[in-house]
Amino acid sequence: MVPKVESGWGRGLVPTESTSLFVPGTRPPYPWAVPAQFTILGSGSGGNCAYLEVGETRLLIDAGFSARQIRERLASIGRAPEGLTGILVTHEHGDHIQGLGTLCSKTGVRIFANRFTREAIQEAFPGVGFSFSVFETGSTFSVGDVEVDAFSVPHDAMDPVGFLLRTSAGNIGFLTDLGHATRLILERVRPANVLVLESNHDVKLLQDDTRRPWSLKQRILSRHGHLSNDAAAAVAEELAADHLRQIYLGHLSRDCNRPELARKTVGARLTSIGATHVRLGDTSQDAPCATVHLEAGIPQIR
Ligand SMILES: [Zn+2]
Ligand SMILES: [Zn+2]
Repeated sequence: MVPKVESGWGRGLVPTESTSLFVPGTRPPYPWAVPAQFTILGSGSGGNCAYLEVGETRLLIDAGFSARQIRERLASIGRAPEGLTGILVTHEHGDHIQGLGTLCSKTGVRIFANRFTREAIQEAFPGVGFSFSVFETGSTFSVGDVEVDAFSVPHDAMDPVGFLLRTSAGNIGFLTDLGHATRLILERVRPANVLVLESNHDVKLLQDDTRRPWSLKQRILSRHGHLSNDAAAAVAEELAADHLRQIYLGHLSRDCNRPELARKTVGARLTSIGATHVRLGDTSQDAPCATVHLEAGIPQIR
């Protein structure tokens, strides 16, 4: 079933079946464009949650902190869970759904998830009466003024997805929790103007880590695990077209990575191909990033 919540495309905006509203060099200043604002409320292997607002459409992408934390972080940008249109969920790991039970039972906010993820969420929070809109992995659907592409990613969850969120102000890609990036995935996320990209671990720090058992290291390093800094650099290089303006390095491991190491690895690769137009942003598990305002595909921090 394709969920439809008061589609903004019905107002004459051109629905895009293929790629971007903003083909490089032909970025039109749509007079009817609705401004978008985007805030990563937190990202790391212990919790992930982001907020996107386009006109009246207010979405969370994942809810991997406690409901209280999410409420506090939304309050820091003047928003509240009660005002949300919905929550898009990538997959059922705790660092993406931790706050769902309390948040949804208090507010009744709708969850957008695929079928297997919905089942896993229900199992994780027995007794909570969630409202779900179920999407098909690989499909495109609208939530208010946001058009969502949900595509499959290789990760050890039931049916994990990445997202490309298309708005009339620009496109935001979510590419975290994946063991490797296939050609198909790169094509799906390529129209992004702003990309949240997993840069989970430094391979050497992970291999040298004495606290993690071998089996866990194998899981993280596997083709269904997490992207290393080097793998993130390869993805960044592949996607660094003109219209990509900002990459947030996300989902960093607390023990097996450091923000400066991730930035250095990805930054060096971008510099080596002359992609100096792509800004790199750090993310933190402990605090929200500055809000980015998107207009005509250009992200700005005011
Ligand atoms: Zn995760
Ligand atoms: Zn995960």
